[in-house]
Amino acid sequence: MLSPLFSPFEYCLELHRKNRLPHAMIFSGGENILMEKAGVSLANFLLCEKPKTHTSCGICHNCQLFQAESHPDFLKLVGEGKSHTIKIDAIRDLTEFLHQTASMGKYRVVLVLNAQDLNTAGSNAFLKSLEEPGENTLIILTASDEHLLLPTLRSRSQIIHFETPVFEIALPALVQELKPEFNPLVLAQNFHTDPLALLETLQSVMQEKIKETLGLTIKTNPSVDLIDLEKALDFCELCLARKKNLISKIPLNPVLFAEDLLIAFSQV
Ligand SMILES: [Zn+2]
Repeated sequence: MLSPLFSPFEYCLELHRKNRLPHAMIFSGGENILMEKAGVSLANFLLCEKPKTHTSCGICHNCQLFQAESHPDFLKLVGEGKSHTIKIDAIRDLTEFLHQTASMGKYRVVLVLNAQDLNTAGSNAFLKSLEEPGENTLIILTASDEHLLLPTLRSRSQIIHFETPVFEIALPALVQELKPEFNPLVLAQNFHTDPLALLETLQSVMQEKIKETLGLTIKTNPSVDLIDLEKALDFCELCLARKKNLISKIPLNPVLFAEDLLIAFSQV
């Protein structure tokens, strides 16, 4: 059983590790940018020659092609124009792509953003390939709501729900539940989109821990970890300083910012 605390991306990696990655997936219900990012990261991971545990290596030939947006085994389609309909030319590219074998000998991945904008021709092109899926082919469709897609597409795909992230619930749960495998980089990649929310969440988790340690709150959980108060207070001070940076809008790399903060958090 996979933990519901996995991010959708982590969940897909876990499926891959267990050799249970399907031929088609629908990423549904999340923010477009998050679903696209997950699809792109997953494609890159599958095409990478030497993937790490949670990410592609970023340096192999395949990763370089991927970063240059010229990998022959990855195709991304986006709705065009005002109507956001995926055009017939793009569908032709897609059909051709699906009939080829993987040039680099690994996966072939198609990512279709806003698949609810597929017209009938587009949907049919997919249906055909979903009926006879090639070896090591993965089709990822993103949709604001999977119910906007044809039932025949839905029934042939595994649906991955990207519920609107409830940050305040998701992050502390991750931090606590995954404590033994706490990986600041992975968390940073999942939670960097809103640096201020990340900061405030970590800060409030830490403040709770301080209160628990000081015995100011009734201990409902007797197994609660006691923390090093001095380090915890240092962390809160760090949060204040970082918050000032955020508010004064000093340019920053959000993933590095998140990772740095999470590492400091994990060291308390
Ligand atoms: Zn690589």
